[in-house]
Amino acid sequence: MMNSGMVTAAYIIAAVLFILSLAGLSKQETARRGNQAGIAGMAIAVLATIIGDGVSNYGILLVMVGIGGAIGAYLARRVEMTDMPELVAILHSFVGLAAVLVGFASYLTPDSHHVGAERTIHDVEIYLGILIGALTFTGSVVAFGKLSGKLGSKPLILPGRHKLNLGIGVACVVLLFLFIGQAPDAALDQNSTGMGTFILVLMTLLAFAFGVHMVMAIGGADMPVVISMLNSYSGWAAAATGFMLSNDLLIVVGALVGSSGAILSYIMCKAMNRKFFSVIMGGWGDAKPSNVTSDGSDEPQGEAVPISADEVAMLCKEADSVVIVPGYGMAVAHAQHPVSELTTQLKKAGINVRFAIHPVAGRMPGHMNVLLAEANVPYDLVFEMDEINDELSDTDVVIVIGANDIVNPSALDNPNSPIAGMPVLEVWKAKTVIVSKRSMATGYAGVENPLFFKENTRMLFGDAKESVNGILAGL
Ligand code: NDP
Repeated sequence: MMNSGMVTAAYIIAAVLFILSLAGLSKQETARRGNQAGIAGMAIAVLATIIGDGVSNYGILLVMVGIGGAIGAYLARRVEMTDMPELVAILHSFVGLAAVLVGFASYLTPDSHHVGAERTIHDVEIYLGILIGALTFTGSVVAFGKLSGKLGSKPLILPGRHKLNLGIGVACVVLLFLFIGQAPDAALDQNSTGMGTFILVLMTLLAFAFGVHMVMAIGGADMPVVISMLNSYSGWAAAATGFMLSNDLLIVVGALVGSSGAILSYIMCKAMNRKFFSVIMGGWGDAKPSNVTSDGSDEPQGEAVPISADEVAMLCKEADSVVIVPGYGMAVAHAQHPVSELTTQLKKAGINVRFAIHPVAGRMPGHMNVLLAEANVPYDLVFEMDEINDELSDTDVVIVIGANDIVNPSALDNPNSPIAGMPVLEVWKAKTVIVSKRSMATGYAGVENPLFFKENTRMLFGDAKESVNGILAGL
């Protein structure tokens, strides 16, 4: 058994490790070390909590840790890289649900420590923890549904939806005052928690509805922001749980997750040229049907010219510079390893080869960087959109591998496009653009892409892995 001083010391070490972890994760070169620091911090935190004096029933604890750990290990082993965003969304929902359950347990447990003003503060902590947890829970479940394709990505626009949100917000504030106003030391007497519990249940149902409505109203193209926003909310839910349980480490970790998620949301909004507030108010990203072109007409935009893998290999051989733009399709096709091999071959041939990464490429922040790191692509070849966009006009060949929305020129030149205003990789400025994808289908935002019909674009149809292997064979 550790005494409380030792537990506090362990928590401080864990908190420092979590901060080091975040610092490490901010750069690819140090990401592995960052992960290791995070794992070490979490191991220390869990161990200190288990052998600290807060745990009395080891039987139940071991059974629950066993069940949860087994499910987690099974899911983590099974999950495809392409399904990671859904997994992350559903894991956020668990954090939210945990905050709700801890909140109710905390309220219903007889508590003689908090009296008078302290009781009021504790009640506010419980109320806010359940509120944030509940909307994180249902919001994340809906996000999971949208990302996995179980729910449509179209925003749900209810009539008077802003008034509805405002109504729920006002009701939650009124309920908070009613909650803290009733029997101040109610928790000392288990029989008098009835009214408080009733108010909490009512607020929880309202927050559940708010979470569903908030994420349902957000369209497909805004989903990157939703994911990082729910990430942030799950952090605040954890921090609120920390306050309820008087657990300093949980407060620190929750604040770290909450604020880094908020910063990420800001970065994603900037990358998409969106205002955070208008994203969460919803209604954007309403995709047009795929047969409608980005200029709003039904007319085909010209003819897409196909190319073979051998011809692409020839083009590459003659090029001085090649830029590869990976997108979601590269993840689907598991093409990162052949792409890495292609990079090696091109470099060997003396060609200047680089990668251009759009901030919302794929289906989660950093998705492409993770895939390229997994395939051992050297970090110094990988450039962010802002670093490389100006150099695309001096590039001989751009190879777009399974990307679509992030290279769509209508984002810049068609104000009616659902993705209008989103900065994109201006690949059409290169001498030749090769687009590797299976068909003429639209990407996540459901918008037609005029890039495919440009004079200097050639379509390399087929699964990205097979196409890249074909180019390699040609080289
Ligand atoms: P897109 O979804 O726009 O396009 C991917 C393309 O890949 C599709 O058009 C598809 O065309 C092609 N593709 C799919 N499978 C294969 C395959 N096996 N081989 C070859 N091609 C394939 O992806 P982008 O990366 O360009 O853009 C990301 C989109 O996702 C943006 O709209 C972004 O807002 C959104 N998003 C991003 C998130 C993030 O955090 N990064 C989170 C949620 C959404 P075809 O079917 O013809 O092969």
